[in-house]
Amino acid sequence: MHYSKIKQATLSSLYIVLILLLSACGNNLKDITTFLNAKEAVYEDISIQMGEAYWNLYSDEAEADLKAPKERYVDLYTNDTLISIIEDWYPKRNTIDDKILARRIEVWNNILTAAKINYAEENLKLQNELEFWLGEPDTAKGKPSDAELKKMVIQLMKQRNEQAKAMGYENYAVLMLDITETGYDWLEEFVRIIDERTYEPYKILKEEYLSETEKSEFTNDDARSLLMPYYINQITPDLSGDSMRAAMKNIIDGIGLDYNSLPFRVVENEMPPGVGGQGIAVQIPGDFRIALMPGLGFATWMHELGHGLQAMHTTIESPILKGYEWSFGSGNGGFSEGMAETSARFTRNVNIAKQFSDLSDEELAEKIAAMNKHRAAYLRYWLAIFMFEIEYYKDLDQDPDELKRSVIQKYRLLDSVNEESAPLLDMVFVSYPLYLQNYVIAEIVSWQVHDALLDKFGESYINDPATGQFLIDHFYKDGAAMPWRTSLKTATGKELDVDGYLTYFGL
Ligand SMILES: [Zn+2]
Repeated sequence: MHYSKIKQATLSSLYIVLILLLSACGNNLKDITTFLNAKEAVYEDISIQMGEAYWNLYSDEAEADLKAPKERYVDLYTNDTLISIIEDWYPKRNTIDDKILARRIEVWNNILTAAKINYAEENLKLQNELEFWLGEPDTAKGKPSDAELKKMVIQLMKQRNEQAKAMGYENYAVLMLDITETGYDWLEEFVRIIDERTYEPYKILKEEYLSETEKSEFTNDDARSLLMPYYINQITPDLSGDSMRAAMKNIIDGIGLDYNSLPFRVVENEMPPGVGGQGIAVQIPGDFRIALMPGLGFATWMHELGHGLQAMHTTIESPILKGYEWSFGSGNGGFSEGMAETSARFTRNVNIAKQFSDLSDEELAEKIAAMNKHRAAYLRYWLAIFMFEIEYYKDLDQDPDELKRSVIQKYRLLDSVNEESAPLLDMVFVSYPLYLQNYVIAEIVSWQVHDALLDKFGESYINDPATGQFLIDHFYKDGAAMPWRTSLKTATGKELDVDGYLTYFGL
C-alpha cells in the first residue's frame, strides 16, 4: 500500500512536470517561430542585396558593393539571441512536431557553424584582400608578389583550420563537408570507389596512349590529352545566338516549364578571371539573372538556366530553406550543381542531338563511344583537382607544391610530374572552399535523375510535361526542406548511386 502510494504520488508529480514542460515547449516554439521568421526576413533582405551586388560585379550594370551585405551578414550571424536559440534547440530538434521548423533549426545551425569561421573578422579581412588582389592583373600597382599572396592564402587556411579544431572538428575540410551535408566520410568513400573502379580502365587507356604516341613517359600533359576526347566528343549540338535560344525554349517548353513565363534575364559580358558564367538567384523565386562570357556553348547556358529552373520553382516560404547561395550551410553544392547539370544533360541526350545537329546516327554513336571510353580519364583528372585541397587541410605545414605533385601523380598515374604549379593562387581556395568535388557529384546526380526520368516516362521524357512536374515536385519546390540525399532517394529510389553510374558506363 505504502509503496504504491509513493509510486502514484511520484507519477502524478511527474505528470505535472510533464504538462508544465510541454506547455513551456509550446509557448517557446511559438516564440521561436516568430523570432526565426523575423531573422529570416532580414536574411532574405541581405541575400537579395548580395545577389544584386554580385549581379553588378558580373554584369557591370552598376557599382558592385559587396561589402555592405557582408557586414550585415556578420551582424546577423553574431546575434546572441539567435545563436543561443539555435544552440539550445539544435540537439533536441527531433522532438519538434513541426518538421519544417526542425529543419529550419538544422539549416540555421549549419549556417551559424560555418559563419563562426567564414565570417570571423580576421578571416574576412584576409579573404577580402585576397579576393581583391587575385582579381587584379600582375601589372597592378602595389600587388603583392606571388610568394606573398601564397603566404596570405596559407595564413587564411591556417586560421580556418585552427578555429575548426577549436570547435571540435578534425580540420576545416571536415567541418565544411559536414555543414554542407556532403559528409567527410561519405566523400572519402565516394573517392575510394571511383578510384578503385577507374584504376584498371585508366591504366589500359594510358598504355594504349603511350604505345600510340611512342612515348616512354606519361606526364600531366599526357593526362590532359587523355581527358580531352571526353569533352570534345560530347554530343551537345553546336549552337549559338538565336538558334541556341530557340533550342533552349524548345527543350524547356517540351518538359512543360513554359520558357517565356520564367522570370529571368541574361547578359553576356566579360567576367572576372576564372568565371565563365554565373546564374544568380537575386530573389527566390521571382528574380533570376544569368551573366555569361560571350561565346559560351549550349551546355553552359543550359547549366546556368538549370540553376534558375530550380530557383524559379522554389515555393517554400521560409527564406532559410530557399537556397540563397551566399552563406555556406544554406544548401548542398553537389545537389545544386546536380540540378544545373540535370538541365545541361538534356543537350547531351541523343534524341535532342538528332533534332538540333546535322550529325548522322553513326557519327553520334561514334562520338558517344569515344566519350565513354575516356570517362575514366575525366573522373581521375577531377579526383586530382579536388583531392588536393582535402589532403592539404590535413596538414597545412606540408609543402603545397610537393603535395599537389603527389596528388596528381596518384590519380593521373603519372610517371613524372613536369608541372610547374602554383596550386594555392586560386580564388576557389579563398572564396569557394571545399567546392570542387561538387562538379563530379553533379555529374552523377544528373545521370541518376535522367535515368529515373527515362525509367518513369520512357524515351519521350525529353518532351513530356510530366518531366517538368517531376522535377518541380521532387527537387525544386521545397528547397532545402529535406536533406539532398532524402530528396534524391524519394525521387529516384536511391541515394547517390555511384555504383550504378560506374556500372552503367562499363567501369
Ligand atoms: Zn553551376
